[in-house]
Amino acid sequence: MPSIAAMFAARVPRYTSYPTAPHFHDGITASTYREWLAALPYGAPLSLYLHVPFCDTLCWFCGCNTTVVNSYSPVAGYLEFMEREINAVADALKPGHIVTHIHFGGGSPTLLRRGDLRRLDHVLRGRFAVADDAEIAIEIDPRGFGADMAEALRDIGVTRASIGLQDSDPVVQRAINRIQPDEVTANTVHLLRGVGISALNIDLIYGLPHQTAAGLEKTIETALTLDPDRLAIFGYAHVPHFKKHQSLIPEAALPGVEERFVQAEAAQALLAARGYVPIGIDHFAKPGDALAAAWAQGRLARNFQGYTTDTAPALIGLGASAIGALPDGYVQNFADVPSWRAALSRGELPVAKGVALGAEDRMRGALIERLMCDLEADIDAIAEAFGFTRSALADSLTALEPFLRDGIATLDGGRLTIPHEWRAATRLICAAFDSYLEAGMRKHAVAV
Ligand code: SF4
Repeated sequence: MPSIAAMFAARVPRYTSYPTAPHFHDGITASTYREWLAALPYGAPLSLYLHVPFCDTLCWFCGCNTTVVNSYSPVAGYLEFMEREINAVADALKPGHIVTHIHFGGGSPTLLRRGDLRRLDHVLRGRFAVADDAEIAIEIDPRGFGADMAEALRDIGVTRASIGLQDSDPVVQRAINRIQPDEVTANTVHLLRGVGISALNIDLIYGLPHQTAAGLEKTIETALTLDPDRLAIFGYAHVPHFKKHQSLIPEAALPGVEERFVQAEAAQALLAARGYVPIGIDHFAKPGDALAAAWAQGRLARNFQGYTTDTAPALIGLGASAIGALPDGYVQNFADVPSWRAALSRGELPVAKGVALGAEDRMRGALIERLMCDLEADIDAIAEAFGFTRSALADSLTALEPFLRDGIATLDGGRLTIPHEWRAATRLICAAFDSYLEAGMRKHAVAV
């Protein structure tokens, strides 16, 4: 068996889509997107993602598309164009769609003024019918979060909040330029629960500079005092060639691949001992949580926000860099705000690139999604569902052989299974089914 260091040093995608974003191209245009939107069946449920690409300060580990702003005017200007995009997308759709999920992400959507957040919600609901039981989720930066924002979130119907904690150790916090005392996080939770927003996720990161397994366990214990329904523990993706500000992270203080593996294992063991169910490769949920139920029933899905119970056939991305997933393929908006605004000023949908899905993409994508969600997949059944046989995956099965030989995956009939102790190897196994991988490899982070 190869060493952990050798095996996990491979750079592979996180598989929030297939094909993954580095394979999007500019052959997919605004007119393609318009056709794809118009082709959605009458009444099909929709999921909306609204991207707010602004933050007060820059966390040096950040991999998101965001900009630090020192005044509110760029944000106010952005919202004006967000309204234009909402209208443009709504105009391109058939009537009758019901929105079942809304996700505000960023950047820091809680940096919006509360009046602007209410206005954005008003515009959205003016153009889209939102289901009464829709999940409305938002990502929260606890730093600067106050009672007025908690009330605004209640007013727009937020049902779930994802709170960024990352790591509670002040030494780690200084090394990543994110100072967040524990009281600040606790107060955010208190304010949210006080307005009735009780479904809470806490986001943590391992693999940060100066982090150790013991320190991560301490952070998890701190998070657990807040009694979250879910935790996500992502591996830090150090890609300074791609995200320049990450070069501010002291590389010598970064844990190596083996230490990252130990941290991921320690986190998993601690959360299992505390009664949380491991979901997919990096999420944990209380047994009664909807995500745990979806996982247990094989209904878990994966999209650009990670693991989800959302089964809407179309995810519409709004805002600069936002990605949409439609039955025909993926589209991504211009990532830079000026280009995104310019397209909307011309009356165009602000699409920069995307990829149309062929039958083989759908088959490989379904297989990868099941592996990422369930850690197992019935290869023959999935191939057949898309009009193929196992022979269409001959290249992947060859790539899988070393993993099968070392017991990192098992193949019984058509059923490919990743044993629980090799959960951390899931992305590597998925990569065996990724026929695009070579060309985009450099942009990804290590596998654990
Ligand atoms: S607050 Fe979130 S989006 Fe903003 S820089 Fe920090 S990690 Fe990135």
